[in-house]
Amino acid sequence: MRVAAFTVDVDRDVNLPAKDRMQALSKCHDGEREETRFDSSTRGLTLLVRLLDELGISATFFFEGDTLLHISKQANARELLASHEVACHGVCHEDITGESTGVPLTDHELEQMLDDGSKIVRDVFGVDPIGFRAPYQHIDGRALEMLQRKGFSYDSSMTKAVDGEGDLRPWKIAGDLVEVPLAQGKDAHGKRIVSYLWPMHEGKRAPSDYIDMAHGMRSGTLVMATHSWHVVETYAGGLLPQGRVEHDLNALRQVLEGITAQGWKFRKLEEIAKDWRG
Ligand SMILES: [Zn+2]
Repeated sequence: MRVAAFTVDVDRDVNLPAKDRMQALSKCHDGEREETRFDSSTRGLTLLVRLLDELGISATFFFEGDTLLHISKQANARELLASHEVACHGVCHEDITGESTGVPLTDHELEQMLDDGSKIVRDVFGVDPIGFRAPYQHIDGRALEMLQRKGFSYDSSMTKAVDGEGDLRPWKIAGDLVEVPLAQGKDAHGKRIVSYLWPMHEGKRAPSDYIDMAHGMRSGTLVMATHSWHVVETYAGGLLPQGRVEHDLNALRQVLEGITAQGWKFRKLEEIAKDWRG
């Protein structure tokens, strides 16, 4: 069986870890000034949902708490996300393991992050999130155990290589908690490619690379991912002109249509995780 999922990390614009602090920053438009922005993420979210609804794909959106609070002031998030899953992505884009900030979260901070992040999702959408993706995909055993204790069903923070048979499947990672990882496969030239679309938005990969990667997977679960802000702003180029935004949305459409045409069925991660929890 071939099951795909499209996931979106909805977080502050072009987020960057900052040394010795918990809260992430946004990449500056103008030099060294520190800032936190949410406008590209807000705009990109609406554009992504519109495209997915048009394609009839129900996706999973991992919301960072601060970003969600900002978005919910600008738009009716509950109505916008009506046919999609909402899940948790921390509160201020915390680096759980401290790999980038140099400061891992304490147990108390980790618990606070999960409680507060879940509460913001619950307050805005009226549902308890059951899925989690760690900011920067930085996860460890301690966090996975806490997710399980807090009643989460799955985590989707890891990246795993497709095996020699072209297969990749979720697995139980802590008690009943299921890991539904992103995929690392090969493009048509045999080069390593990951199912996070960052390089495509930055102009370093073409839609066909991801379609070829999906083709190389014979079975299992293919989790694609992007950021809400990445269709309107890039890391290297800053805010995109309207023509480039349309070009990027069209590239994403090509990926999703190309994968669907290969027989992959898109499902929400909560549905996939439910199957693996047994
Ligand atoms: Zn993130």
